[in-house]
Amino acid sequence: MNRDKSNALYEKAKNYIPGGVNSPVRAFGSVDKAPIFVDRADGAYIYDIDGNKYLDYISSWGPLIFGHNDPEMIETFKSSLEKGITYGVPSYIEVDMAQEIVKAYPACEMVRMVNSGTEATMSAIRTARGYTRKDKLIKFEGCYHGHSDCLLVKSGSGTLTFNAPTSLGVPEDVIKDTIVCTFNDIESVKSAINQNKDQIAAIIIEGVPGNMGVVPPCPDFLKQLRKLTKDEGILLILDEVITGFRIAYGGVSEVYGIEPDMVCFGKIIGGGLPVGAYGGKREIMQVVSPLGGVYQAGTLSGNPLAMHMGLKTLQRLRENPSIYSDLEAKAIKLEQGFKKNLSDLGLNYTITRVKSMISFFFAEGEIANYQDVQKSDTDKYGEFFRFMLNKGILLPPAQFEGLFVNTAITDEELEYTIMCHKEALRAIHN
Ligand code: PLP
Repeated sequence: MNRDKSNALYEKAKNYIPGGVNSPVRAFGSVDKAPIFVDRADGAYIYDIDGNKYLDYISSWGPLIFGHNDPEMIETFKSSLEKGITYGVPSYIEVDMAQEIVKAYPACEMVRMVNSGTEATMSAIRTARGYTRKDKLIKFEGCYHGHSDCLLVKSGSGTLTFNAPTSLGVPEDVIKDTIVCTFNDIESVKSAINQNKDQIAAIIIEGVPGNMGVVPPCPDFLKQLRKLTKDEGILLILDEVITGFRIAYGGVSEVYGIEPDMVCFGKIIGGGLPVGAYGGKREIMQVVSPLGGVYQAGTLSGNPLAMHMGLKTLQRLRENPSIYSDLEAKAIKLEQGFKKNLSDLGLNYTITRVKSMISFFFAEGEIANYQDVQKSDTDKYGEFFRFMLNKGILLPPAQFEGLFVNTAITDEELEYTIMCHKEALRAIHN
Protein backbone atom coordinates (compact mmCIF):
# COMPACT_ATOMS: atom_id res chain seq x y z
CA MET A 1 0.00 0.00 0.00
CA ASN A 2 1.51 3.32 -1.09
CA ARG A 3 1.28 6.12 1.47
CA ASP A 4 3.82 8.54 -0.02
CA LYS A 5 1.47 11.54 0.00
CA SER A 6 0.44 10.99 3.62
CA ASN A 7 4.06 10.56 4.65
CA ALA A 8 5.05 13.79 2.89
CA LEU A 9 2.13 15.71 4.37
CA TYR A 10 3.06 14.46 7.83
CA GLU A 11 6.53 15.97 7.41
CA LYS A 12 4.93 19.27 6.35
CA ALA A 13 2.31 19.18 9.13
CA LYS A 14 5.03 18.79 11.76
CA ASN A 15 6.32 22.24 10.79
CA TYR A 16 3.06 23.91 11.67
CA ILE A 17 1.22 21.74 14.22
CA PRO A 18 2.83 20.20 17.32
CA GLY A 19 3.55 16.61 16.31
CA GLY A 20 1.67 17.25 13.07
CA VAL A 21 -1.72 16.50 14.61
CA ASN A 22 -4.48 18.18 16.60
CA SER A 23 -4.92 15.32 19.08
CA PRO A 24 -1.98 13.11 20.13
CA VAL A 25 -3.38 9.65 19.31
CA ARG A 26 -3.82 10.72 15.68
CA ALA A 27 -0.03 10.69 15.22
CA PHE A 28 -0.20 6.84 15.25
CA GLY A 29 2.89 7.14 17.48
CA SER A 30 2.48 3.83 19.30
CA VAL A 31 1.69 1.81 16.16
CA ASP A 32 3.36 3.27 13.07
CA LYS A 33 5.88 5.77 11.73
CA ALA A 34 3.30 8.16 10.29
CA PRO A 35 -0.47 8.59 10.25
CA ILE A 36 -2.71 8.51 7.21
CA PHE A 37 -4.11 11.86 6.11
CA VAL A 38 -7.75 11.75 5.12
CA ASP A 39 -9.15 13.15 1.91
CA ARG A 40 -12.79 12.16 2.40
CA ALA A 41 -15.03 9.58 4.01
CA ASP A 42 -18.26 7.86 3.08
CA GLY A 43 -20.40 5.17 4.73
CA ALA A 44 -18.12 2.68 6.45
CA TYR A 45 -14.98 3.91 4.71
CA ILE A 46 -12.27 6.54 4.96
CA TYR A 47 -10.17 7.46 1.89
CA ASP A 48 -6.68 8.86 2.33
CA ILE A 49 -4.92 11.39 0.09
CA ASP A 50 -3.02 8.55 -1.63
CA GLY A 51 -6.34 7.09 -2.76
CA ASN A 52 -6.28 4.15 -0.29
CA LYS A 53 -9.60 2.99 1.17
CA TYR A 54 -10.00 1.84 4.78
CA LEU A 55 -12.87 0.19 6.62
CA ASP A 56 -13.21 2.58 9.56
CA TYR A 57 -13.49 1.20 13.10
CA ILE A 58 -12.72 4.57 14.70
CA SER A 59 -15.97 6.32 13.69
CA SER A 60 -14.38 9.62 14.77
CA TRP A 61 -13.89 8.03 18.24
CA GLY A 62 -17.60 7.39 18.68
CA PRO A 63 -19.79 10.18 17.34
CA LEU A 64 -20.50 8.63 13.93
CA ILE A 65 -22.98 5.98 14.99
CA PHE A 66 -24.51 6.00 11.47
CA GLY A 67 -21.14 6.02 9.70
CA HIS A 68 -19.84 8.78 7.44
CA ASN A 69 -22.06 10.99 5.29
CA ASP A 70 -25.28 9.34 6.33
CA PRO A 71 -27.87 10.89 3.97
CA GLU A 72 -30.31 11.91 6.73
CA MET A 73 -27.53 13.57 8.70
CA ILE A 74 -26.24 15.42 5.63
CA GLU A 75 -29.77 16.65 4.90
CA THR A 76 -30.13 17.81 8.52
CA PHE A 77 -26.81 19.63 8.34
CA LYS A 78 -27.71 21.40 5.11
CA SER A 79 -31.11 22.59 6.31
CA SER A 80 -29.59 23.78 9.60
CA LEU A 81 -26.84 25.65 7.76
CA GLU A 82 -29.42 27.59 5.78
CA LYS A 83 -30.80 28.96 9.06
CA GLY A 84 -27.48 30.48 10.12
CA ILE A 85 -24.31 29.21 11.74
CA THR A 86 -24.36 30.65 15.24
CA TYR A 87 -26.53 33.23 17.01
CA GLY A 88 -25.13 34.08 20.45
CA VAL A 89 -28.65 34.38 21.83
CA PRO A 90 -31.01 31.52 22.74
CA SER A 91 -32.54 29.44 19.97
CA TYR A 92 -35.49 27.01 19.97
CA ILE A 93 -33.30 24.07 18.99
CA GLU A 94 -31.35 24.29 22.28
CA VAL A 95 -34.57 23.78 24.21
CA ASP A 96 -35.63 20.85 21.99
CA MET A 97 -32.22 19.28 22.52
CA ALA A 98 -32.30 19.74 26.30
CA GLN A 99 -35.79 18.25 26.45
CA GLU A 100 -34.71 15.23 24.37
CA ILE A 101 -31.78 14.52 26.71
CA VAL A 102 -33.83 15.02 29.87
CA LYS A 103 -36.55 12.66 28.57
CA ALA A 104 -33.94 10.06 27.65
CA TYR A 105 -32.09 10.05 30.96
CA PRO A 106 -34.11 10.03 34.18
CA ALA A 107 -31.21 11.18 36.40
CA CYS A 108 -30.75 14.25 34.21
CA GLU A 109 -33.43 16.75 35.14
CA MET A 110 -31.58 19.77 33.77
CA VAL A 111 -28.76 19.94 31.25
CA ARG A 112 -26.24 22.53 30.08
CA MET A 113 -24.65 22.23 26.63
CA VAL A 114 -20.90 22.79 26.17
CA ASN A 115 -18.46 22.19 23.30
CA SER A 116 -16.55 19.04 24.27
CA GLY A 117 -16.46 16.13 26.67
CA THR A 118 -13.58 17.82 28.48
CA GLU A 119 -15.71 20.88 29.19
CA ALA A 120 -18.57 18.66 30.30
CA THR A 121 -16.56 16.79 32.96
CA MET A 122 -14.68 19.90 34.08
CA SER A 123 -17.94 21.80 34.54
CA ALA A 124 -19.67 18.87 36.22
CA ILE A 125 -16.89 18.72 38.80
CA ARG A 126 -17.04 22.45 39.44
CA THR A 127 -20.80 22.14 39.91
CA ALA A 128 -20.43 19.18 42.27
CA ARG A 129 -17.87 21.09 44.32
CA GLY A 130 -20.03 24.20 44.36
CA TYR A 131 -23.11 22.25 45.38
CA THR A 132 -21.47 20.17 48.12
CA ARG A 133 -19.02 22.90 49.22
CA LYS A 134 -16.35 20.19 49.32
CA ASP A 135 -13.17 19.99 47.24
CA LYS A 136 -12.00 16.40 47.01
CA LEU A 137 -12.70 14.16 44.09
CA ILE A 138 -12.29 10.45 43.39
CA LYS A 139 -11.50 9.13 39.93
CA PHE A 140 -10.41 5.69 38.75
CA GLU A 141 -7.05 4.77 37.31
CA GLY A 142 -7.33 4.23 33.54
CA CYS A 143 -10.56 6.20 33.20
CA TYR A 144 -10.15 9.25 30.96
CA HIS A 145 -12.40 12.25 31.37
CA GLY A 146 -10.76 14.76 29.03
CA HIS A 147 -7.77 16.96 29.62
CA SER A 148 -8.75 19.41 32.34
CA ASP A 149 -6.03 19.80 34.97
CA CYS A 150 -7.57 18.10 37.98
CA LEU A 151 -8.40 14.97 35.97
CA LEU A 152 -4.93 14.39 34.51
CA VAL A 153 -3.81 12.28 37.44
CA LYS A 154 -2.46 8.80 37.90
CA SER A 155 -1.91 7.00 41.15
CA GLY A 156 1.74 6.76 42.07
CA SER A 157 3.69 3.82 43.48
CA GLY A 158 0.57 1.74 44.00
CA THR A 159 -0.60 3.84 46.93
CA LEU A 160 -3.92 5.57 47.32
CA THR A 161 -2.66 8.77 48.80
CA PHE A 162 0.26 9.75 46.60
CA ASN A 163 -0.67 10.95 43.12
CA ALA A 164 1.28 12.30 40.16
CA PRO A 165 0.14 14.46 37.25
CA THR A 166 0.04 12.67 33.88
CA SER A 167 1.01 15.87 32.11
CA LEU A 168 3.63 18.57 32.48
CA GLY A 169 2.06 21.89 33.32
CA VAL A 170 -0.37 20.49 35.87
CA PRO A 171 0.65 21.89 39.27
CA GLU A 172 0.81 19.42 42.15
CA ASP A 173 -1.43 21.82 43.98
CA VAL A 174 -4.22 21.38 41.44
CA ILE A 175 -4.27 17.60 41.74
CA LYS A 176 -3.87 17.45 45.51
CA ASP A 177 -7.63 17.02 45.86
CA THR A 178 -7.90 14.24 43.27
CA ILE A 179 -7.83 10.74 44.73
CA VAL A 180 -7.24 7.81 42.38
CA CYS A 181 -8.91 4.45 43.07
CA THR A 182 -8.90 1.09 41.30
CA PHE A 183 -11.71 0.28 38.89
CA ASN A 184 -13.82 -2.72 39.93
CA ASP A 185 -12.39 -2.56 43.46
CA ILE A 186 -14.98 -1.22 45.89
CA GLU A 187 -12.59 -1.71 48.82
CA SER A 188 -10.20 0.86 47.31
CA VAL A 189 -13.08 3.35 47.25
CA LYS A 190 -14.16 2.59 50.82
CA SER A 191 -10.63 3.05 52.01
CA ALA A 192 -10.25 6.39 50.16
CA ILE A 193 -13.53 7.62 51.64
CA ASN A 194 -12.50 6.59 55.15
CA GLN A 195 -9.21 8.44 54.81
CA ASN A 196 -11.02 11.59 53.61
CA LYS A 197 -14.19 11.54 55.70
CA ASP A 198 -16.73 14.25 54.75
CA GLN A 199 -14.30 15.95 52.36
CA ILE A 200 -15.22 14.29 49.08
CA ALA A 201 -17.51 16.19 46.72
CA ALA A 202 -17.86 13.61 43.98
CA ILE A 203 -16.78 10.36 42.40
CA ILE A 204 -16.44 10.48 38.61
CA ILE A 205 -16.37 7.26 36.62
CA GLU A 206 -16.68 5.82 33.14
CA GLY A 207 -19.23 3.12 34.04
CA VAL A 208 -17.84 1.03 31.19
CA PRO A 209 -14.33 2.35 30.64
CA GLY A 210 -13.41 2.70 26.98
CA ASN A 211 -10.16 4.59 27.43
CA MET A 212 -7.99 1.75 28.73
CA GLY A 213 -9.58 -0.51 26.16
CA VAL A 214 -13.04 -1.75 27.05
CA VAL A 215 -13.10 -2.99 30.66
CA PRO A 216 -16.40 -4.54 31.74
CA PRO A 217 -17.57 -3.56 35.24
CA CYS A 218 -17.81 -6.57 37.60
CA PRO A 219 -21.34 -7.52 38.55
CA ASP A 220 -22.47 -5.23 41.40
CA PHE A 221 -19.46 -2.88 41.33
CA LEU A 222 -21.48 0.06 39.98
CA LYS A 223 -24.42 -0.71 42.27
CA GLN A 224 -22.12 -0.84 45.30
CA LEU A 225 -20.59 2.45 44.23
CA ARG A 226 -24.04 4.01 43.96
CA LYS A 227 -25.00 2.81 47.44
CA LEU A 228 -21.73 3.90 48.99
CA THR A 229 -21.89 7.40 47.50
CA LYS A 230 -25.50 7.81 48.64
CA ASP A 231 -24.68 6.66 52.16
CA GLU A 232 -21.69 9.01 52.36
CA GLY A 233 -23.33 12.09 50.79
CA ILE A 234 -20.94 12.03 47.83
CA LEU A 235 -22.20 12.90 44.34
CA LEU A 236 -21.82 10.18 41.72
CA ILE A 237 -20.93 11.58 38.28
CA LEU A 238 -21.28 9.11 35.42
CA ASP A 239 -19.09 10.06 32.49
CA GLU A 240 -21.22 8.83 29.58
CA VAL A 241 -19.25 10.69 26.91
CA ILE A 242 -18.62 7.37 25.12
CA THR A 243 -21.38 5.16 26.52
CA GLY A 244 -24.27 7.64 26.41
CA PHE A 245 -26.68 6.76 23.59
CA ARG A 246 -24.18 4.08 22.45
CA ILE A 247 -24.51 1.01 24.65
CA ALA A 248 -28.23 1.81 25.02
CA TYR A 249 -30.37 4.90 24.59
CA GLY A 250 -30.10 5.44 28.35
CA GLY A 251 -26.39 4.52 28.47
CA VAL A 252 -24.73 2.89 31.48
CA SER A 253 -27.54 4.15 33.71
CA GLU A 254 -30.11 2.08 31.81
CA VAL A 255 -27.96 -1.01 31.24
CA TYR A 256 -26.73 -1.31 34.85
CA GLY A 257 -29.80 0.16 36.55
CA ILE A 258 -28.03 2.94 38.46
CA GLU A 259 -29.10 6.58 38.69
CA PRO A 260 -26.16 8.94 39.06
CA ASP A 261 -26.50 12.41 40.60
CA MET A 262 -24.81 13.98 37.60
CA VAL A 263 -23.96 12.86 34.07
CA CYS A 264 -21.64 13.98 31.27
CA PHE A 265 -22.27 13.47 27.55
CA GLY A 266 -20.37 14.20 24.33
CA LYS A 267 -19.58 12.46 21.04
CA ILE A 268 -22.89 10.95 19.77
CA ILE A 269 -25.01 13.84 21.05
CA GLY A 270 -23.34 16.16 18.51
CA GLY A 271 -23.83 13.89 15.50
CA GLY A 272 -20.19 14.56 14.52
CA LEU A 273 -20.00 18.24 15.49
CA PRO A 274 -18.09 19.53 18.53
CA VAL A 275 -20.31 19.12 21.58
CA GLY A 276 -20.61 18.10 25.20
CA ALA A 277 -23.25 18.36 27.91
CA TYR A 278 -23.47 17.99 31.66
CA GLY A 279 -26.58 17.60 33.70
CA GLY A 280 -28.08 16.13 36.79
CA LYS A 281 -30.70 16.48 39.44
CA ARG A 282 -32.52 19.81 39.34
CA GLU A 283 -31.42 20.74 42.84
CA ILE A 284 -27.78 20.31 41.87
CA MET A 285 -27.96 21.99 38.47
CA GLN A 286 -29.63 25.01 40.01
CA VAL A 287 -26.27 26.09 41.40
CA VAL A 288 -25.07 26.78 37.83
CA SER A 289 -24.91 30.41 36.66
CA PRO A 290 -27.08 32.46 36.03
CA LEU A 291 -29.31 30.65 38.57
CA GLY A 292 -26.55 29.99 41.08
CA GLY A 293 -22.99 30.77 41.98
CA VAL A 294 -21.10 28.21 39.87
CA TYR A 295 -19.81 30.05 36.81
CA GLN A 296 -19.70 28.33 33.43
CA ALA A 297 -20.22 29.81 29.95
CA GLY A 298 -19.42 29.34 26.24
CA THR A 299 -19.39 31.54 23.12
CA LEU A 300 -20.48 28.65 20.90
CA SER A 301 -22.31 26.52 23.49
CA GLY A 302 -25.61 25.20 22.14
CA ASN A 303 -24.40 25.94 18.62
CA PRO A 304 -27.39 25.43 16.28
CA LEU A 305 -25.54 23.19 13.80
CA ALA A 306 -24.45 20.85 16.58
CA MET A 307 -27.90 20.96 18.18
CA HIS A 308 -29.72 20.08 14.95
CA MET A 309 -27.28 17.24 14.22
CA GLY A 310 -27.38 15.97 17.79
CA LEU A 311 -31.14 16.15 18.09
CA LYS A 312 -31.63 14.34 14.77
CA THR A 313 -29.24 11.61 15.96
CA LEU A 314 -31.03 11.17 19.27
CA GLN A 315 -34.47 11.16 17.65
CA ARG A 316 -33.41 8.49 15.17
CA LEU A 317 -31.96 6.35 17.96
CA ARG A 318 -35.12 6.76 20.07
CA GLU A 319 -37.42 5.90 17.18
CA ASN A 320 -35.35 2.89 16.06
CA PRO A 321 -34.34 0.95 19.17
CA SER A 322 -33.38 -2.02 16.97
CA ILE A 323 -30.25 -0.01 16.08
CA TYR A 324 -28.86 -1.04 19.48
CA SER A 325 -29.46 -4.75 18.96
CA ASP A 326 -28.04 -4.46 15.43
CA LEU A 327 -24.89 -2.73 16.68
CA GLU A 328 -24.50 -5.29 19.43
CA ALA A 329 -24.98 -8.12 16.92
CA LYS A 330 -22.10 -6.67 14.89
CA ALA A 331 -19.87 -6.54 17.95
CA ILE A 332 -20.86 -10.09 18.93
CA LYS A 333 -20.01 -11.30 15.43
CA LEU A 334 -16.57 -9.72 15.74
CA GLU A 335 -16.11 -11.10 19.24
CA GLN A 336 -17.03 -14.65 18.22
CA GLY A 337 -14.94 -14.46 15.06
CA PHE A 338 -11.89 -13.16 16.92
CA LYS A 339 -12.28 -15.77 19.67
CA LYS A 340 -12.53 -18.57 17.14
CA ASN A 341 -9.41 -17.30 15.37
CA LEU A 342 -7.55 -17.25 18.67
CA SER A 343 -8.61 -20.75 19.60
CA ASP A 344 -7.84 -22.09 16.08
CA LEU A 345 -4.32 -20.73 16.47
CA GLY A 346 -3.90 -21.85 20.07
CA LEU A 347 -3.66 -18.30 21.39
CA ASN A 348 -5.21 -17.05 24.62
CA TYR A 349 -5.50 -13.30 24.21
CA THR A 350 -8.44 -11.64 25.87
CA ILE A 351 -11.35 -10.06 24.00
CA THR A 352 -13.62 -7.82 26.05
CA ARG A 353 -17.07 -6.64 25.01
CA VAL A 354 -19.94 -4.70 26.56
CA LYS A 355 -22.89 -4.27 24.18
CA SER A 356 -21.38 -2.72 21.02
CA MET A 357 -18.09 -1.74 22.71
CA ILE A 358 -15.31 -4.22 22.01
CA SER A 359 -11.53 -4.47 22.51
CA PHE A 360 -8.86 -7.07 21.95
CA PHE A 361 -5.93 -7.12 24.29
CA PHE A 362 -2.62 -8.75 23.54
CA ALA A 363 -2.76 -10.02 27.10
CA GLU A 364 -4.02 -13.21 28.70
CA GLY A 365 -6.43 -13.61 31.59
CA GLU A 366 -9.00 -11.37 33.16
CA ILE A 367 -9.07 -7.66 32.29
CA ALA A 368 -10.73 -5.89 35.22
CA ASN A 369 -8.65 -2.78 35.85
CA TYR A 370 -5.73 -0.65 34.73
CA GLN A 371 -3.11 -3.02 36.16
CA ASP A 372 -4.54 -5.87 34.06
CA VAL A 373 -4.56 -3.71 30.96
CA GLN A 374 -0.88 -2.96 31.45
CA LYS A 375 -0.08 -6.64 30.79
CA SER A 376 -0.79 -6.04 27.09
CA ASP A 377 1.98 -6.45 24.58
CA THR A 378 1.76 -3.07 22.86
CA ASP A 379 4.45 -3.95 20.29
CA LYS A 380 2.32 -6.86 19.14
CA TYR A 381 -0.66 -4.54 18.91
CA GLY A 382 1.45 -2.25 16.70
CA GLU A 383 2.33 -5.15 14.37
CA PHE A 384 -1.29 -6.18 14.29
CA PHE A 385 -2.46 -2.61 13.56
CA ARG A 386 -0.02 -2.23 10.64
CA PHE A 387 -1.00 -5.57 9.14
CA MET A 388 -4.70 -4.64 9.31
CA LEU A 389 -4.06 -1.16 7.88
CA ASN A 390 -2.31 -2.72 4.90
CA LYS A 391 -5.42 -4.86 4.41
CA GLY A 392 -7.55 -1.70 4.35
CA ILE A 393 -8.85 -1.86 7.92
CA LEU A 394 -8.42 1.17 10.15
CA LEU A 395 -8.35 0.18 13.83
CA PRO A 396 -7.79 2.51 16.77
CA PRO A 397 -4.09 3.46 16.56
CA ALA A 398 -3.45 2.47 20.18
CA GLN A 399 -3.89 -0.72 22.18
CA PHE A 400 -5.85 0.98 24.93
CA GLU A 401 -8.87 2.03 22.91
CA GLY A 402 -12.03 0.25 21.87
CA LEU A 403 -13.37 -0.33 18.37
CA PHE A 404 -16.36 1.78 17.41
CA VAL A 405 -18.78 -0.09 15.17
CA ASN A 406 -21.40 1.90 13.29
CA THR A 407 -24.58 1.04 11.41
CA ALA A 408 -22.90 1.44 8.00
CA ILE A 409 -20.62 -1.60 8.50
CA THR A 410 -22.07 -4.69 6.78
CA ASP A 411 -21.85 -8.39 7.61
CA GLU A 412 -19.49 -8.92 4.68
CA GLU A 413 -17.16 -6.26 6.01
CA LEU A 414 -17.21 -7.85 9.46
CA GLU A 415 -16.34 -11.20 7.89
CA TYR A 416 -13.48 -9.60 5.97
CA THR A 417 -12.24 -8.09 9.25
CA ILE A 418 -12.37 -11.47 11.00
CA MET A 419 -10.51 -13.11 8.11
CA CYS A 420 -7.78 -10.45 8.21
CA HIS A 421 -7.57 -10.77 12.01
CA LYS A 422 -6.65 -14.43 11.59
CA GLU A 423 -4.07 -13.67 8.91
CA ALA A 424 -2.61 -10.95 11.12
CA LEU A 425 -2.33 -13.26 14.12
CA ARG A 426 -0.64 -15.87 11.96
CA ALA A 427 1.81 -13.31 10.58
CA ILE A 428 2.64 -11.92 14.01
CA HIS A 429 3.27 -15.32 15.56
CA ASN A 430 5.40 -16.70 12.77
N1 PLP B 1 -14.84 11.48 28.78
C1 PLP B 1 -14.66 10.34 28.09
C2 PLP B 1 -15.18 9.06 28.66
C3 PLP B 1 -14.01 10.35 26.88
O1 PLP B 1 -13.82 9.20 26.20
C4 PLP B 1 -13.53 11.57 26.36
C5 PLP B 1 -12.81 11.62 25.07
O2 PLP B 1 -12.51 10.65 24.45
C6 PLP B 1 -13.74 12.74 27.11
C7 PLP B 1 -14.41 12.66 28.31
C8 PLP B 1 -13.27 14.06 26.60
O3 PLP B 1 -14.03 14.42 25.48
P1 PLP B 1 -13.45 15.44 24.39
O4 PLP B 1 -12.38 14.74 23.65
O5 PLP B 1 -14.65 15.76 23.54
O6 PLP B 1 -12.97 16.63 25.13
